[in-house]
Amino acid sequence: MTAVIKTIRLTKAYGDQIAVDNLQMNVNQGQIYGFLGQNGAGKTTTIRMLLGLIKPTQGQIEIFGENLLEKQRDILKRIGSIVEFSGFYENLTARENLLIHAKLKGVHKKNAVEEALEIAGLQAETKKRVGQFSLGMKQRLGIARAILHHPELLILDEPTNGLDPIGIKEIRRLIKSLAEERKITILISSHILTEVEQLADHIGIIHQGKLLEEISFNELRKRNRKYLEFQVSDESKAAMLMEKHFAIFDYEVHDEGNIRVYSHIGEQSKLNKLFVEHGIDVFKITTSEDRLEDYFIKLIGGGTVG
Ligand code: ATP
Repeated sequence: MTAVIKTIRLTKAYGDQIAVDNLQMNVNQGQIYGFLGQNGAGKTTTIRMLLGLIKPTQGQIEIFGENLLEKQRDILKRIGSIVEFSGFYENLTARENLLIHAKLKGVHKKNAVEEALEIAGLQAETKKRVGQFSLGMKQRLGIARAILHHPELLILDEPTNGLDPIGIKEIRRLIKSLAEERKITILISSHILTEVEQLADHIGIIHQGKLLEEISFNELRKRNRKYLEFQVSDESKAAMLMEKHFAIFDYEVHDEGNIRVYSHIGEQSKLNKLFVEHGIDVFKITTSEDRLEDYFIKLIGGGTVG
């Protein structure tokens, strides 16, 4: 696994207020990394530091294995981003805007603008001026601009903010295709859990400037799987009975007579009967109700995410 972004105790304070607090973030090559947090959690501040727009108060940033402060120019050439303002000329078309940007950025590859327009689904908009674009189109144009120079890493700060469901879907599709076809590593921030869940394969959760969790969605789903939990007098015997009578193998034995069954949810009475008939005392049966959303709310201590 090659690290693309690594922050070491990254901290940013504005006077007394600590906006980003000892952040240890790891984004690896090929990931779509969802950076999730409520408004004011510290996402934009982190992203601005990653892009060299503001300086950390403390800590370090390594991108592509190099120190950002030492190699900023070289590193930034390999990154594309959308942060805050679009900065397009509203009276020009998408193509004209991109041609100007390509010139400014020193992108001389002949087809770069056409290619970017096509990827963003804007190649047919030959006449419309950017001032007449929907917000979704503007965001797609922003992404087209961000990929003009073929970056290896794309950093997108809340790219779906303010978009309608169709606009969100289009951005999602675009981001996925950039990751899959162009193999670009993508960091995308959002305050909406379901959005991150549909897009990202890894997630970092930031709350009050601190990174509370960094995990793959696969791992997270596994951890949040629904289960039936029995508290019994003899967990080994209970496990043996489940295997023998119902071919249940997807279970885990925990301490103090707890056994978690990940299949056959809703069949607790059948299992209860089996145990009791074979002389096992059943003290308690519980069903986990944890959904991903509850997990996040628990994690951030009661606040709501998305
Ligand atoms: P949002 O989605 O609302 O932008 P965010 O997660 O991106 O939220 P940040 O913008 O990084 O959060 O802000 C983190 C904290 O730092 C907030 O409490 C914010 O008020 C504070 N902050 C951000 N920029 C500044 C600044 N220039 N001066 C003082 N405080 C700031």
